[in-house]
Amino acid sequence: MFDAIFDVVVVGGGHAGCEAAAAAARCGACTLLLTHRLDTLGEMSCNPAIGGVGKGHLVREVDALDGLMGRAADAAGIHFKLLNRSKGPAVRGPRAQADRKLYRQAVQALLRATEGLSLEADAAEDLVLGDNGRVAGVVTASGRRIGAGAVVITTGTFLRGMIHIGETRIPAGRVGEAPSVGLADTLRRLGLPLARLKTGTPPRLDGRTIDWAALEAQPGDDPPEPLSWMTERITNRQVACALTATTPATHDLIRANLHLTAVYSGRIEGVGPRYCPSIEDKVVRFADRQRHQIFLEPEGLDDDTVYPNGISTSLPEAAQAALIASIPGLGRARIVRPGYAIEYDHVDPRALTPTLEVRAAPGLFLAGQINGTTGYEEAAAQGLMAGLNAVCCAEGAVPDRVLTRSEAYAGVLVDDLVLQGVTEPYRMLTARSEFRLALRADNAGLRLTEKGVAWGVVGAERARAHRTYAATLADALARARAEGGSPVWYLGAGVPINQDGRWRSALDALALPALTADTADRLFPWLRDLPARVRAELEAQALYAPYLERQAAELCVLEREERLAIPAATDFTAIPGLSTEMRHRLTKASPTTLGSAGRVPGVTPAALVALAVHLRRTE
Ligand code: FAD
Repeated sequence: MFDAIFDVVVVGGGHAGCEAAAAAARCGACTLLLTHRLDTLGEMSCNPAIGGVGKGHLVREVDALDGLMGRAADAAGIHFKLLNRSKGPAVRGPRAQADRKLYRQAVQALLRATEGLSLEADAAEDLVLGDNGRVAGVVTASGRRIGAGAVVITTGTFLRGMIHIGETRIPAGRVGEAPSVGLADTLRRLGLPLARLKTGTPPRLDGRTIDWAALEAQPGDDPPEPLSWMTERITNRQVACALTATTPATHDLIRANLHLTAVYSGRIEGVGPRYCPSIEDKVVRFADRQRHQIFLEPEGLDDDTVYPNGISTSLPEAAQAALIASIPGLGRARIVRPGYAIEYDHVDPRALTPTLEVRAAPGLFLAGQINGTTGYEEAAAQGLMAGLNAVCCAEGAVPDRVLTRSEAYAGVLVDDLVLQGVTEPYRMLTARSEFRLALRADNAGLRLTEKGVAWGVVGAERARAHRTYAATLADALARARAEGGSPVWYLGAGVPINQDGRWRSALDALALPALTADTADRLFPWLRDLPARVRAELEAQALYAPYLERQAAELCVLEREERLAIPAATDFTAIPGLSTEMRHRLTKASPTTLGSAGRVPGVTPAALVALAVHLRRTE
């Protein structure tokens, strides 16, 4: 009845699909990654960059679980920058601009080297449902029926995708690629709640026609800091970007052509990303601004294409040419591909459990832009988690691979999606995490790698490297807590310190703003011998120790509430003391713990008390 059978079939080879398939295979599942074209595996549909503020945290978390994204970005990176460097380590965002072609090649090489993973070019058109309503496989466009213990769908912007350039409409999943229509119909037939969202991309420029000399150059960091824990150093040649900006003439031109854009003429119904708006949106929403910054980012080492970051647009092509010509340094710049907006179907992620399984279709998992997110990193993090849970499902176990909000940004992301849903494309921001002082990009390994080892998704090489690091850090922390001195001793060494008679450890001292690195080395010479990563972690832990102690109490409350599980069969309409509105909200969101019930929008403290009483009574 099936042409082939796999433990896990992943549909779509974007950032979510690649991580899902690789994670499932790393766990030992016989996995198929089914995607339209093998040469677009690892394609960056929009900007040629990985990471950034909030997003960099996700990349490091994916990496801590032995995912592909960080390693691929390091292999392809041509411009690295640690964003927010002047702020505390908790909100710093590692980012790498990548050579587009090298990135694809790196992802494809990593996938091909993954044991137990098959790659196939075909489109999934339909799902096979078992007698019990479970998803049991996929049907492809070429007519093959492929059986699976679990299916992960990661079709990005392809579900009924429609490109808009001015008044022109082109059915497409991204430029030059056909949309996915059959699968969208299948999801609708399954009764999944679908809605429209939109995103956009700027025109690409020929770098040889840009007046670079007239622009402010933006070099990357030297030395570049890798995104992956496993990368020793970056070997690619590094390139500079340049900075320019829109002008009042640009804004006048946009206003004059607004009626021709898909969004402002009403031809697009989907909502766009608030934190990555089109240049039309920026000009309308911030009408008093005289300029909007544009970063000119080279797309590759042997590619003259330049990505003008900040001017995504769906203006007609002629207006795009005039827009570009109005920008300093771009007077003679040639457009090699026009910008466009794309509208697509997404599934309301409240239809998913925290393991990213579709509640109404057991055995089916969704990850990436299909869940209403935007961004490669958000997609990758979901893909990895969905892949892990698909493996549980294929093994006949109950999927339970979940990261909590206090463990990871990936936990925040999934929790926000499945409880709150989305009204616009969801993008990760550090402000979304209430535990952000604890969730630093640079401590992702300490937070997650051991968990990944227990889940079977982390390979031996990373596990070894992590354990060596963790042991060195533990020794250094123990020593930094045990050694120290009196205020008089510190003062004698030239550290101005409150003479309160209180003994302070080396760890306490490292948090003192007055303590320079040289003085710290003089006071505690062993610090000099620590590997750079261990030293940096020690300093970060010293800096945040007082805050984290205070946060520990909040964490205890959260963990207690998270431990109080709400059984799947709970009938919220039968819980005494809940109003009709609360019953409706809780039924719709189906929270799985008391903690997650508290995060359902509009659920009141009184409703939580009633729910807690009910749960404790029936425990
Ligand atoms: P994708 O990367 O879209 O990958 C989907 C994959 O599924 C593709 O390989 C496709 O071939 C395959 N596929 C689809 N249907 C089927 C099927 N039926 N059978 C087999 N294979 C299938 N993000 C930002 O952060 N900022 C931005 O400004 C931004 N702008 C964007 C502009 C455009 C025009 C586009 C298209 C995307 C933009 N993005 C932006 C989003 C970013 O590209 C996505 O968030 C990210 O790529 C999503 O990853 P994904 O894995 O979910 O899907």
